Amino acid sequence: MSVSNQKSVIIIVKGVVQGVGFRPFVYNLAIKHHLNGTVSNTGEGVIIELEGFPDAITQCVTQLQKHPPTLSRIDSFTLEEQERKHFSTFEIVESFSTSKTTSISPDTAVCEGCLEEMRDPHNRRYGYYLINCTHCGPRYSIIKTLPYDRASTSMDVFTMCPQCQAEYNDPTNRRFHAQPISCYACGPVLTLSDHEGKRIIHANSVMEKAAELLQNGSILAIKGLGGFHLMCDATNETAVATLRLRKKRPKKPLAVMFANVSHLKRYAHINEEESHFLTSKESPIVLLNKSSNTTLAPSISPDINTIGAMLAYTPLHHLLFDYITSPLVATSANRSGEPILRHAQEVWERLGDVIDYSVDFNRDIVNTVDDSIIQVIQNRHITLRLGRGYAPLTLVRNDYIPLKIVAVGGQQKNTIALAFEDKMILSPHIGDLHTIESMEYFVRSIESFSRFYDFKPDVIVCDKHPSYATTQWAKTQGIRLIEVQHHYAHALACMAEFGLKEEVLAFCFDGTGYGDDGTLWGGEVFRANTTRYERLGHIKPFRLLGGEKAVKEPKRVALALLFEVYTLDEIRTLNLPFLTCFKPDELTLHYMAWKKGLNAPLCSSMGRLFDAVASFCDILHQDGYEGEGGRRLEELYVPDWDMCFEYTIENGVIDLSTMIKEIVILGQLGKYNRIATSFITMLVAIIEDFSNNYPHLPIVLSGGVFQNKTLLDRCVTRLEAKGCSVYFQQRTPINDGGIALGQLYYGC
Ligand code: ZN
Ligand code: ZN
Ligand code: FE
Repeated sequence: MSVSNQKSVIIIVKGVVQGVGFRPFVYNLAIKHHLNGTVSNTGEGVIIELEGFPDAITQCVTQLQKHPPTLSRIDSFTLEEQERKHFSTFEIVESFSTSKTTSISPDTAVCEGCLEEMRDPHNRRYGYYLINCTHCGPRYSIIKTLPYDRASTSMDVFTMCPQCQAEYNDPTNRRFHAQPISCYACGPVLTLSDHEGKRIIHANSVMEKAAELLQNGSILAIKGLGGFHLMCDATNETAVATLRLRKKRPKKPLAVMFANVSHLKRYAHINEEESHFLTSKESPIVLLNKSSNTTLAPSISPDINTIGAMLAYTPLHHLLFDYITSPLVATSANRSGEPILRHAQEVWERLGDVIDYSVDFNRDIVNTVDDSIIQVIQNRHITLRLGRGYAPLTLVRNDYIPLKIVAVGGQQKNTIALAFEDKMILSPHIGDLHTIESMEYFVRSIESFSRFYDFKPDVIVCDKHPSYATTQWAKTQGIRLIEVQHHYAHALACMAEFGLKEEVLAFCFDGTGYGDDGTLWGGEVFRANTTRYERLGHIKPFRLLGGEKAVKEPKRVALALLFEVYTLDEIRTLNLPFLTCFKPDELTLHYMAWKKGLNAPLCSSMGRLFDAVASFCDILHQDGYEGEGGRRLEELYVPDWDMCFEYTIENGVIDLSTMIKEIVILGQLGKYNRIATSFITMLVAIIEDFSNNYPHLPIVLSGGVFQNKTLLDRCVTRLEAKGCSVYFQQRTPINDGGIALGQLYYGC
């Protein structure tokens, strides 16, 4: 064939294609097929020009599409023939910045190849704490702007040594264009500091010394990928209790890090699916059941049978486990309610009274990102927190969005979401926006995402709640504003994840959100599509005694439920443990407040109902953490028992007064397992009742209450057995972390 038979094509690949070894992969393919041309990263994606014989181009393109690099995800692939440019070689050309619509890759756990090198005494990166390659390591957490090149990451201040530079330049090397590449000679320095903030030890022996300190009961702040962790020996009750006391975190479970799966198996039960997630490149925290004979400190997760477990995911963590046999508490370094900390100096300023030492290296974290949390249910999973490994999460639509939209999410477990072109992007977990620090983090996240994507919104979508900080922020922006009801946003979030556009029957069981009638909602049944919804049903409203206080004190909700059914005199004769939490005159005061509706707003919240039932079961009266009532009720649930509370539904209003009377009888006899079992079974029955009236609608289950594994599992099993199509969020948070996505879907 003569040269004149050659042709030239231009290919644009979009998706997660930067910082994942895509260009070297293309380079090697092109060389293999004797093709000339170029490959480059642009803000739009990877652009490939191939020149050569048509057959070779076809083969090259087929391989490109069929077997792209492990960490990449191709969302779109366009190929056009172009005028021949007579390239004489194939080259990777420098990035140039145009429009910025490519996806940012999330951070990933260290790969096997890097770990092997790190443990090889003959390798120049033996024991190197920041080893990485094109297939692993930091991405999102170090990116300042797109396109993803070393100059736009926090590695820009480190000049590569000749050896690293050679690897970086060599297309056949697995570190070719690995932006965070470094070694002992040219990379960030590892330091261990003590209380005075003085460096007490430098470089190679840091992890050995850190392990020794942990072994002796010290609490360390150790830098991870997206922020610092507070770490201590998870089998040392004194150390764990000290951490809790110093951090003022009495009960909320602490995540635990293990060296590997076999290490973890000594402490918790794990099935194949859970193992799959734990060992994945995303390496999330997975909720597991503890072993009965576990030697984990009891105060890791007091009163409950589950733990949040993850495996070591940075080279530094792996080094640590070379020197210590105990699992380690690894909880985000932050003050309660504040964002995770990313600079050692901040850690000492904000947590100096909590930690004894810090382990730091001078590669800056640009974007903080918490560990992701998931739970496996049947053979599926739900996301409880979207963070490292998964976020930012891009959902690609099959249509084009004419506007640029930003959704600001809710007040708790806040995330933000962006839509443009054919993409919907969900940010990592930002947090509860009750503090100045977390509100600053929220604004910083909006700014960062706007910078990444050169994004100026045409529309902002927010919650209807007038006092959410996000709503208030949105109202000051001077941009077209759309408000979406909170629970409708929950339903929409699920629809967004599955691309549902048809009408659905949505059960939105949640904490509280602002309802259209000005009361607090949270136990809602909607018929909804992408533009409107109808409230088909809801829990009959009850009062939250003391307003917000009732969220922290389930006993107040339980009492309010009694007021719905009994007189004050009758209540005084009841022998229920939670009533002993109130002094006689307190009962009178609460009754007056309830009667007059003083600081006792009406709500139909399923989350609060769970809390109340937990209080009736004498397991939680006050100072609970979010979701504690539900978690502990699950443990009282007996799967084989066939029992259910009675209820009535009239005009969509779910009346539970009969249930309250039955609970009082059972509660006085201490039959708490029966209460928990009948309660959860009843909720499933209520959902079935509604679904019977709308047999043709797909069912959506959304809202924080469905984090309850037992409830979700029972609902899905029952409904699917009846032939219903059931949707619940898996890749996006089923709780308020998904609100931004739902808002965005409405805006699109
Ligand atoms: Zn690697
Ligand atoms: Zn180097
Ligand atoms: Fe919610």
